[in-house]
Amino acid sequence: MYSIYEVIYTCPNCGGLLEVQHDTEALRTRSADEWKKLFDDRVGSTEWPYGSGVWGKKEWIMPTIADDNVVSMYEGNSNLFWAERLGRQIGLSDLWVKLCGNSHTGSFKDLGMTVLISVVKQMQADGVPVGAVGCASTGDTSAALAAYAAAAGIPAVIFLPEGRVSPAQLIQPIANGAFVLALDTDFDGCMRVIREITQDSDSDDSSIYLANSMNSLRIEGQKTIGIEIVQQFDWEIPDWIVIPVGNLGNISALYKGLKLMLDLGIISRLPRLVAAQAAKANPFYLSYLNGFSEKVSVEAETTLASAIQIGDPVSYDKAVQAIQETDGIVEQVEEHEMAAAAAMADATGMYTCPHTGTALAALFKLLQRKVIGSNERVIVISTAHGLKFTPFKVGYHEGTLTEVESDLANPPVYLPADADIVRDAIQRRLS
Ligand SMILES: *Cc1c(COP(=O)(O)O)cnc(C)c1O
Repeated sequence: MYSIYEVIYTCPNCGGLLEVQHDTEALRTRSADEWKKLFDDRVGSTEWPYGSGVWGKKEWIMPTIADDNVVSMYEGNSNLFWAERLGRQIGLSDLWVKLCGNSHTGSFKDLGMTVLISVVKQMQADGVPVGAVGCASTGDTSAALAAYAAAAGIPAVIFLPEGRVSPAQLIQPIANGAFVLALDTDFDGCMRVIREITQDSDSDDSSIYLANSMNSLRIEGQKTIGIEIVQQFDWEIPDWIVIPVGNLGNISALYKGLKLMLDLGIISRLPRLVAAQAAKANPFYLSYLNGFSEKVSVEAETTLASAIQIGDPVSYDKAVQAIQETDGIVEQVEEHEMAAAAAMADATGMYTCPHTGTALAALFKLLQRKVIGSNERVIVISTAHGLKFTPFKVGYHEGTLTEVESDLANPPVYLPADADIVRDAIQRRLS
């Protein structure tokens, strides 16, 4: 056992990832109904920091941090969108999309980063030297790290795979003043370099504290996703939760939050989890096909779903448990399937990123194969905001994406400023 304030990421004996252990016995001193009431009362609270969707559950996340050291943007409490029209089109009446991209930096990575940066601030207050925080990223982790670090006044160092993140994601850490390194490699290459630079327990004034999801503190914040979904349904459990996966930290976190609720008697069963991968970066899918008898790693190919373009997932073991313990499924989708699913969702009022498209496309397939029933309640986790992926949207509607047929393309019509011509064009479109 180690303190959460120690600089350590992996087990010195087995090399596996560490996990934050809560004192579940102590948490049982409140009944299930008392927890529900406490958490419900804090939604929308102005009492620092409990109005945050993460810190509103502080006792389950990081109870020992002083409120003054919490670094929060009031993340979480994102909208659970009833996708009524899309659901009708695909024959699923109870389809909901958890819009986690409606957050400070536009992705669900804010949920974990508020916890990690708060712990670093607490460590600094306690006299532990941390020179900077750092991460390897496919875009969203670095945006979240840079923003929270900047808010706390802690230097951030970002390792990005050159040319493999969207322009919006690249500019976020630059704007927030982080030291941005674009390395001539892929995400897995960036991850290898930062693991070498940030060794366990070598804290000194110039040390870099690792902020990737292999740092178990991130998982504590991310695990509120599942808790929040259940809370938003007045503590009813959905049948399925579908989530796009890359490095596998988030599905592990989702499971951890749900399992804690089960252990505390707040829910009586677990929803089934679906992990959705791009076929171009599908190591977890391949491991699933071999019954998880061994971990498969691949060299990830270029995919539109760039935030999950990962070939050697770090949180593999925890994610296997998440799938096995929930009777879960891993599905993969082609580029044209994710693009079509995203476009279809957008046409019903959403604005989906390619990863959300990946999760939706996986759902469509499972529904078609009748693995998921048309009367079941399904939640799709939308992991980032579509506005972070403008080239994906533009490319789709201009018909320029590779391997994608833009059947739902809706390009603008260019006309002279003549009322008769304009009226004709509108009439043709509406008829
Ligand atoms: C990080 C991320 C994921 C996947 O999370 P992992 O923990 O890497 O599996 C999915 N979608 C988006 C937009 C992300 O930023």
